Amino acid sequence: MEIGFIGLGKMGFPMARRLIEAKHQLVVFDQRKEAIDKLVALGAQAASSPQEVADCAETVMASLPSLQASLEVATGAAGVIEGKRVRRFVDLSTVGSHMAVRIHDFLVKRNIVQLDSPVSGGVGGAENGTLAVMVSGPKPDFEAVKPALNVIGKVFFIDKKPGSAQTMKLANNLLSATAVVATSEAVVMGVKSGLDPKVMIDVINSGSGLNTASRDKFPRSILPRTFDFGFATGLMVKDVRLCLEEAKALGLSMEVAEAVGRLWEVVIREMGADSDFTSAIKPIEKAAGVVVGGAKS
Ligand code: NAD
Repeated sequence: MEIGFIGLGKMGFPMARRLIEAKHQLVVFDQRKEAIDKLVALGAQAASSPQEVADCAETVMASLPSLQASLEVATGAAGVIEGKRVRRFVDLSTVGSHMAVRIHDFLVKRNIVQLDSPVSGGVGGAENGTLAVMVSGPKPDFEAVKPALNVIGKVFFIDKKPGSAQTMKLANNLLSATAVVATSEAVVMGVKSGLDPKVMIDVINSGSGLNTASRDKFPRSILPRTFDFGFATGLMVKDVRLCLEEAKALGLSMEVAEAVGRLWEVVIREMGADSDFTSAIKPIEKAAGVVVGGAKS
């Protein structure tokens, strides 16, 4: 099918590439020309604005780094909302349910369907087509885009209520964020007392402490100290903040989430928004006066 794709970053680029490889016709746009050029070399057609993308395709997907970017791309001047052909906007970004509903409310007035479709599984999942894809919106439009979404991962229909897939995604990412800082604290404690962090991770991964940080992030990016997993600290903090806002709006007090949120605020302050989120261990190491992994691991 003809698909517009806006936002060709760490996640968007490999998802768009997979869609091209699956013989879909892609029209692409990004603020970075080099990202567009790389996809054109793979067979995509270039567009010069979100509106031009939406002039060319009924289905427009987006993978963007901030709430403001999604709002602007979807509803701004020269945005998707002005496109001549577009019928549905599939937002693969994490924007939280409040922003998803706001975008939905703008688009519905122009007969454009909003499908929230946040994804989980990281850059590796985007490259291998193994993401968890959570979709909310009208079922017939979900069915129309499902064959294309199958190319990027395992597709789940969450609910027809706008924003509900975003709530699902925030619950997932709270667990991911918790795993990184909780595992960092546990391993730093062991190293402080003289344990070998590689042995610790091997034991945890064979025991009941196993989680996505111990399984993926420690072996690949923390123990070798490459800190290159592919998800920015700024994006992780965005998701944790959105989750806390969502909990507050529901009248909930979430003790663990609040502690996790405080830790991630320290990480963004000390490591910067552009650092890889696996750098979260560094302030914990600094406070303990130890370094985990490196040459020995
Ligand atoms: P990224 O920063 O690598 O990519 C974003 C892309 O959007 C960039 O190419 C940027 O140039 C482009 N862009 C920004 N503003 C734009 C605009 N107004 N118009 C057109 N293009 C614009 O971010 P990412 O890591 O690919 O994340 C994208 C989304 O996916 C985020 O919502 C993130 O939370 C979510 N996500 C990321 C991961 C991950 O592991 N990186 C995993 C799951 C979900």
